[in-house]
Amino acid sequence: MTKHNVSPHLTVAAFEMRRPHSLLPVMEQLRDNIHQGGVAMHFVDAKGILTANKGMNGMNIYRGCTHGCIYCDSRSTCYHFDHEFEDIEVKRNAPELLEKALRSKRKKCMIGTGAMSDPYMHCEEDLKLTRECLEIINRYEFGLAIQTKSDRILRDIHLLEEINYKAKCVVQMTLTTYDDKLCAIVEPKVCNTKRRIEVLEMMRDRGIPTVVWLSPILPFINDTSENITAILQECVRIGVKGIICFGMGLTLREGDREYYYKALDKHFPGLKDKYIKTYGNQYELQSPSNRELMKLFYKLCSDNGIMYRPEDIFRYMNDLPEKYEQISLFS
Ligand code: SF4
Repeated sequence: MTKHNVSPHLTVAAFEMRRPHSLLPVMEQLRDNIHQGGVAMHFVDAKGILTANKGMNGMNIYRGCTHGCIYCDSRSTCYHFDHEFEDIEVKRNAPELLEKALRSKRKKCMIGTGAMSDPYMHCEEDLKLTRECLEIINRYEFGLAIQTKSDRILRDIHLLEEINYKAKCVVQMTLTTYDDKLCAIVEPKVCNTKRRIEVLEMMRDRGIPTVVWLSPILPFINDTSENITAILQECVRIGVKGIICFGMGLTLREGDREYYYKALDKHFPGLKDKYIKTYGNQYELQSPSNRELMKLFYKLCSDNGIMYRPEDIFRYMNDLPEKYEQISLFS
């Protein structure tokens, strides 16, 4: 593995040697960015790319994330990062590994991405590794369930449409905070909820099914019926397939908790003490309004034919439709 304390110049040079032609101009640009202090990343050769979890084949092309969400669970110490969370680990051989893995699969299936780090964070603009992987998924006619908070996904909307046409594509967006000012505090380095809703609308207009993660909901911050209602009404208007919500609250553990409390001290003076008094060192921090908000959630979903049981939604995202079988039979 290329260590993060190795000179960025060297790590980029090593990457150039591996992918010499197509990415050379990108590397030049990256080198400038790194030298300007704009991007921190290091490159590794991963051993594998697909991991099986509850029947879903998942992949993370990047490790770490630059979107800066104050509640991010992925920065918890249990994930054993040996580098700063914002110093992105780039699996430069992800496309090669993915292609090899898909070629050897006997049955087409859904491929998930975005669970542990956002596939459309800042560095993807230059690296385009997510895009390369989508092209491979498209070429091999596998399905895709992709999760992001970023409108950068629009760059690849044609590709998503094609995957959906040949197999199936589900776009998942996380929506937590409707108010723009609050959203800019909670999720500071990615587009706001209103923009994400626009992205979902554009997906719908292309016939691409969408799923929303209504999670986490932060006690004493965005756990209001106004916030939840505003988000849910937009989900109804857009016609999302499902909304994933395990309860109104958040989880905190070592690493994540310290980061979150630091943000509370900065943006919500006095709130950390209230958290400590209310929840102590608990892993699950349920909103005091959980019952009322969940009632709202269940009602709006069931009244509008939106899936809300997580197991149904995961089953839906993991199923590759018969459409694929039919196309194969007659092609
Ligand atoms: S987008 Fe996801 S992985 Fe990235 S900081 Fe936010 S919660 Fe963490």
